[in-house]
Amino acid sequence: MKVLLAGGAGYIGTHTAVEMAAAGYDVVIADNFYNSKPEAVRRVEALVGKKIPCYLLDVANKKQLSEVFEKEKIDVVVHFAGLKAVGESTRIPVAYYRNNLDTTLTLLEVMQEQGCRRLIFSSSATVYGEPEKLPLVETMKPGFCASPYGWTKWMIEQILRDACKAEPDLSVVLLRYFNPIGAHESGTIGEDPQGIPNNLFPYIAQVAVGKRPKLSIFGNDYPTKDGTCVRDYIHVVDLAKGHVKAAAYAMEHDGLETINLGTGVGYSVLEMVQAFERINGVPIPFEFAPRRPGDVPECYADASKAKELLGWEAEKTLEDMCRDTYRWQSMNPQGYPES
Ligand code: NAD
Ligand code: UDP
Repeated sequence: MKVLLAGGAGYIGTHTAVEMAAAGYDVVIADNFYNSKPEAVRRVEALVGKKIPCYLLDVANKKQLSEVFEKEKIDVVVHFAGLKAVGESTRIPVAYYRNNLDTTLTLLEVMQEQGCRRLIFSSSATVYGEPEKLPLVETMKPGFCASPYGWTKWMIEQILRDACKAEPDLSVVLLRYFNPIGAHESGTIGEDPQGIPNNLFPYIAQVAVGKRPKLSIFGNDYPTKDGTCVRDYIHVVDLAKGHVKAAAYAMEHDGLETINLGTGVGYSVLEMVQAFERINGVPIPFEFAPRRPGDVPECYADASKAKELLGWEAEKTLEDMCRDTYRWQSMNPQGYPES
C-alpha cells in the first residue's frame, strides 16, 4: 500500500512518515519546503532505514502533482500541505486562502483523474470556534473561526463534504487535531518553527535551552482553574499513529467521517509550564502578558469517536510530551541544519 504525504516534510508529516513506514506502508513525500527542510526527510529515512521518494513541488501545481501520481500509483493521500500560522494569516489572508484551498482543490482533481479515492485531511479543533459546550464533539456544528487560517480549514472541510456527496466512491477522513506537541523519542525529528515560535511548547522549549529569556503567558484572567487557557495537548507520535488508523479505515469505507484527535484532557498554560520544569529539571522564567486576540478560554476533545471508529486512543503521557520536546530541542537547539 502506498501513501502520499502532501506536506510530509513538516512537523506532523515527518512523524506520520515514520509511523506509516512502521505499519508497512510505502511512503512518498511531496513538499515545497516552504516551512520545512530536506534534512527532516533524511532523518526520517535514517529512522525507518530506507529511502523515501521525496518530490520538491507545490502541491497546487497540477502538472507536477499528476506526474507524481502517474509514477508512484498512490493508494491513499494524507494532506498536510498548508500554511498554519494563525497570527500571520490575519496579516496575509489571501496567501492563506490561496495556498490552503488551492492545494486541496488540485489534490481532489488529480485524485479523481488518477483514480485515487482515499484522502485524510489535517483539520483543526479551531473549526469549532468559541465552544458553547465542552468537551468538543464531532456532531457539534462548526463554529465561527477566529482567524483566516481557521476559515481555510472550515472551508476545506465543506469542500470535502461536497465532493464526497457528489462522488460516492470517494473516502475522506477529516482529522481535527487538538494541540500537537512533543517529538519522536529519538530526538532526531521534531518541531522546527522559523523565527519566533507562535505556539506554546516550541516557545517553552526555546526558553529551556536559553535561546529566549522568558515566556509570556497570554492572559491570567480567564474563567479557568488558574486563570490561564486550557488546551488538549496531544503527543505528535500518538497523532501520527491516528493517521495510520485513519488510512486503514479509509481503505475500507466510502464517504466522509470527521474525527477528533485529542486526549480528552485539558491542561492550563501554567500546568504545562510547571510540568515541563518538574519533568526536565529546568526553570522556565515567565511573565503574565495581555490576552492574545482570538484565544478561547478552554478547548478539549471528546475523543471517544476515534476510539470507537478507528480503535485509536492517545497513549503517551504529559511526561512523554515534556521529556521528548526537551530532548529534541536540546539535541537540535537551532532546529534542522539548512539543506
Ligand atoms: P508544517 O508547516 O510543519 O508542515 C506543513 C508542510 O507543508 C511544510 O513542510 C510545508 O513546507 C508544506 N507545504 C505548505 N504549502 C505547500 C504547498 N503549496 N506545496 C507543497 N508543500 C507545502 O505544519 P504541521 O504542524 O506539520 O501541520 C500539518 C498540517 O496540520 C497543516 O495543514 C496544519 O494546518 C495542520 N494542523 C496543524 C496543527 C499544529 O498545531 N501543528 C494543528 C491543527 C492542524
Ligand atoms: N500561549 C502563551 N504564550 C505563548 C504561546 C502560547 O501563553 O508564547 C498560550 C496561548 O495563549 C494559548 C495556549 O498557550 O492559551 C496554546 O497556544 P498555542 O498557540 O500553542 O495553540 P492554540 O491553542 O492557539 O492553537
